[in-house]
Amino acid sequence: MIPYRVAVVGSGPAGVYAAEALVRSRIDVSVDIYDRLPTPYGLVRYGVAPDHPRIKSIIVALQKVLERPQVRFLGDVHVGVDVTTDELGELYDAVVFATGASVGRRLSIPGEDLAGVCSATDFVAWYSGHPDHAQAAESFPLAAESVVVIGAGNVALDVARLLAKSAEDLTQTDMPPHVLDRLADSSVRDVHLVCRRGPEHAKFTAKELRELLELDHVATKLDAGLLPAGSEDPMTAANLKAFADLAAREVVDGQRTLHFHFWSRPVEFLEAGGAVAAVRLEKMQEVDGAVVPTGEVTELKAGMVVRSVGYHSTPVGTLPFDEDLGRVPHDAGRVLGPDGRALNGHYVAGWVKRGPSGVVGTNRACAADTVVSILADLEGRPPRGVAPDEVDRVLAERGVRPVTYDGWLSIDSEELSRGQVLGRARTKIPDWATLRRVGVPGVRRTSPRSSH
Ligand code: NAP
Repeated sequence: MIPYRVAVVGSGPAGVYAAEALVRSRIDVSVDIYDRLPTPYGLVRYGVAPDHPRIKSIIVALQKVLERPQVRFLGDVHVGVDVTTDELGELYDAVVFATGASVGRRLSIPGEDLAGVCSATDFVAWYSGHPDHAQAAESFPLAAESVVVIGAGNVALDVARLLAKSAEDLTQTDMPPHVLDRLADSSVRDVHLVCRRGPEHAKFTAKELRELLELDHVATKLDAGLLPAGSEDPMTAANLKAFADLAAREVVDGQRTLHFHFWSRPVEFLEAGGAVAAVRLEKMQEVDGAVVPTGEVTELKAGMVVRSVGYHSTPVGTLPFDEDLGRVPHDAGRVLGPDGRALNGHYVAGWVKRGPSGVVGTNRACAADTVVSILADLEGRPPRGVAPDEVDRVLAERGVRPVTYDGWLSIDSEELSRGQVLGRARTKIPDWATLRRVGVPGVRRTSPRSSH
């Protein structure tokens, strides 16, 4: 019996969970998981904070899926460039796009393009050793004493915490050495988290807030007078308790200070000497349940600004894309065409489907829902029967040499050895050339493919 063949584009949690749901389903299926990068695991590798190894350990579960005999990993294949979305549609019985949301939202206020203003997406990718960002250090003026981080979500908190931590706190992470050196040399003393609403509205989670209580060298400052007495919502109540503990805490040896500014929205970035020097903030207030500006303006010194106000996805090949929502239009995971009807054989899972929300595990249910739609659509339809090596032939003809799962294991083992030499568990390889050299041994690219 010929199995169905499904392509999954994106090897982050949503893509790998989609593959898992497929191979565990009632149908006989083989799955090819593509990734633009030579390495799997998407945001678990390049987005989860390097000082959060427990969250990163989810890789162990994802790895088990990649090791299933029905699953292949094809890294360093850029779908939409090396192979088109339409070609994949012809080579497979179904294609699942799980390409995430890789672009930071903009604030659209004056001064946003000044030197020293960056998106959390870029900063996180740089300190996580993402190969697209290996040369990006100059974009982050860590000689600044005062850094402003805009946003009240967990990404903003990750960035603020990592900026506030000492170099010693970070040595046990998997950050590449050049990143660690830059952070160790940083002059940052004050990190300001700017939140446009109140503490009761913040999207930080209590666990992440409470983690700050453990940082012996980081003082935390916030106006306890702004904290409401409590909340009926358990998550909000837990956050308010964490904020109260952070406000009450005394740190004797505070090398750096993390300040929470609530009810403040940025309205302009101010320049001095060709780079950002301050952020103009406007006080906000709640009137009849709506958060509105008061007209009262203050300035906060900032040699570096990180905006962390959410992400949006980018279009993949010719796949329909809703620019307003920043994701692919779908119905129960089935990609919808311009006429609002489902496109045959095209599906989405994860952030490109539902937007950038939830924790890593949220993608498991999200991907499983999409697989329910795939199985329903394949019901009664025989497999196409395209030979598995047909796509290999197409890629080889174009000079594309995918990094296989074994190739990834070579990269993995090289990173572990590099870490061991430095007394660390792992240090990431941050550049395309080395990832390719280690991931596809003995192969020199004949075509001048870009580093994307
Ligand atoms: P997020 O949780 O949606 O937070 C975005 C923040 O940006 C919100 O506080 C929002 O404020 C603010 N914002 C939006 N537009 C703004 C504007 N124009 N001016 C000022 N502030 C603005 O997004 P995220 O932090 O990027 O995180 C994405 C997802 O990943 C979340 O589900 C998050 O929990 C998850 N994540 C989890 C962890 C973890 O578990 N440790 C770590 C990182 C990320 P409003 O609320 O007022 O709109």
